[in-house]
Amino acid sequence: LLAITTLAGCSNGADAGTGGGGTGGGDASKAKIGLLLPDSVTARYASADRPLFTAEVKKQCSGCSVIYANADGDASKQLQQAQSMLTQGVKVLVLDPFDGEAAASIVQQAKAKKVPVISYDRLINSPDLSYYISFDNEKVGELQGKALVDALKEKKVPEGSGIIMVNGSPTDNNASQFKKGAHSAIDGSGYEVLAEYDTPGWDPAKAQDWAAGQISKLGADKITGVYAANDDTGGGVIAALKSAGVKELPPVTGQDASLAGIQRILSGEQYMTVYKAFKPEASKAADLAIQFAKGETPKGDATTKTAGGASVPSTLLDPVAVTTDNVQDTVIKDGLYTVDQVCTSQ
Ligand code: BGC
Repeated sequence: LLAITTLAGCSNGADAGTGGGGTGGGDASKAKIGLLLPDSVTARYASADRPLFTAEVKKQCSGCSVIYANADGDASKQLQQAQSMLTQGVKVLVLDPFDGEAAASIVQQAKAKKVPVISYDRLINSPDLSYYISFDNEKVGELQGKALVDALKEKKVPEGSGIIMVNGSPTDNNASQFKKGAHSAIDGSGYEVLAEYDTPGWDPAKAQDWAAGQISKLGADKITGVYAANDDTGGGVIAALKSAGVKELPPVTGQDASLAGIQRILSGEQYMTVYKAFKPEASKAADLAIQFAKGETPKGDATTKTAGGASVPSTLLDPVAVTTDNVQDTVIKDGLYTVDQVCTSQ
């Protein structure tokens, strides 16, 4: 609550989000571009990436259209969605895989139709990818782990207490990168990891259930810090702690700078998030998609190795840690949210 005073003019807020989509065909100026997102339980995939991507496509190519599909956490549904887009004649696929291994068959089928695939945010383990656009995901985990350790240094951490870790989905290559980065900061810090969970499909309800189980098993007072890999799963853990009657919440990490996450940071319920500016990510993906649709072959400014050893031209953007101290200088300054949106009266 204290933090709200650092932002001028707090009142109630509202959510935002629009859609896109359509059809097209023929030459590059009328190209159809497929956008496939992995789930709808994560705020960004429910409302942020699609409108940002579609707006940039339309800005650069008014005759182009975006065909959109969300896999809702189901790899076989995503395969069908991709096949349908290929049948509809898309010139390029921008694919954020629900399952980075299973999605290799989509890339293979696209290749057979000479349709390039851009791996969006999550890496697909395929030798046939055309491009990978994401963030430095190990750094995301390092920022989360380091912030948690720093927050714990400010607190009394009694003997026998420690951190619980709520990681992302085992089907998501990013999740293992986040975990690796987080462990590099937590391991050896002197704070013990009491229990760890890989959340299937990044489902916040599953994260909440697991955390509720740990609270009963360990005792809420033993949990002095929570590593949560994103804001939505972090929100699940916070809900579990609150329903167990915990008054003074331990520091909880997050990721995505979701509206709910930022609101919780300002109300003191969540310690930090990682802001990955989705606008440059989605815009760059749209820009790349249009280049591929024109038959160009954009070179990456970096190279990423897949698990299978293939080298993929890449762009990796820089993530930023956000606490109460820099909400103003990051998501507000960038125009992601207004002060009215982030400040809720409680
Ligand atoms: C993305 C995160 C997102 C998570 C859950 C990750 O691959 O990088 O931004 O919160 O998936 O959908």
